[in-house]
Amino acid sequence: SSSRLELQQVFIAVKTTGRFHGTRLALLLRTWISRTRAQTFIFTDMEDENLRAEGVNVVVTGCHSDHSQQALSCKMSAEYDAFMASGKRWFCHVDDDNYLNAEALLALLSGFPQDGDVYVGKPSLDRPIRAHELTEGNTTREVHFWFATGGAGFLSRRLAEKMAPWASGSRFEQTSARIRLPDDCTVGFIVEERLGVSMVHSSLFHSHLENLLLISHSSVPQQVTLSYGMFENKLNSIEFKGSFSKEDDPSRFKSVHCALYPLTSWCP
Ligand code: UDP
Ligand code: MN
Repeated sequence: SSSRLELQQVFIAVKTTGRFHGTRLALLLRTWISRTRAQTFIFTDMEDENLRAEGVNVVVTGCHSDHSQQALSCKMSAEYDAFMASGKRWFCHVDDDNYLNAEALLALLSGFPQDGDVYVGKPSLDRPIRAHELTEGNTTREVHFWFATGGAGFLSRRLAEKMAPWASGSRFEQTSARIRLPDDCTVGFIVEERLGVSMVHSSLFHSHLENLLLISHSSVPQQVTLSYGMFENKLNSIEFKGSFSKEDDPSRFKSVHCALYPLTSWCP
């Protein structure tokens, strides 16, 4: 479409859990969420007065607070339903260990037909995942599909609407149980296998399953998502010279944020 995509048309869901509120989530609230507050919804499993007091949009799901396929799919199901109810144009999902660059996000999404069937993300595997779908007759059927890694996968409204028969209400968890795979894989299964729509592979999404040292310093402002995390007992994070030491800013998110928004009050 001709008009420029605005952040108001984007619904950003962040998946977290009670024990990460004071650590991972606090870092995001201080950095990128401070720029996308009205469009960002935190999906968690624990009520938190401090979060409420900060005035952020919090959705306390009734989901279990563990890393099981069922608990993760329960949260994604809540995210999907909230997006559908929001009326926004784009559904963006990130984990609480992702930095989301709002400007880069808008640039990426603006390049797609705004009323098309779009599912964009970065696959974590170099080939489609293989799953065994449980069928009615108690047999299994082998299926293959691409999915965008936990970190991030973004959907257009038109495609999200078509997913409803497998994704709305209790159906998302049922679909996830059918392939015995978690939330991110289930989105890929519904889009690619059920609807026959191919995921758009983008190199601008980064999870901690890839070697984050390979991202060049100069390309950071164009990246849509960044991440950090432990990999083989070492911290996997981007290499980014900036305002904070590695000790004060192991994820590098504070340094990146200050490079993107140098006028932020706490930036040196
Ligand atoms: N998570 C959760 N409940 C848990 C553990 C993790 O909801 O018990 C969320 C967490 O907040 C994050 C996502 O699931 O958004 C992925 O968790 P993590 O990064 O710890 O693990 P990964 O799957 O990336 O190895
Ligand atoms: Mn993670």
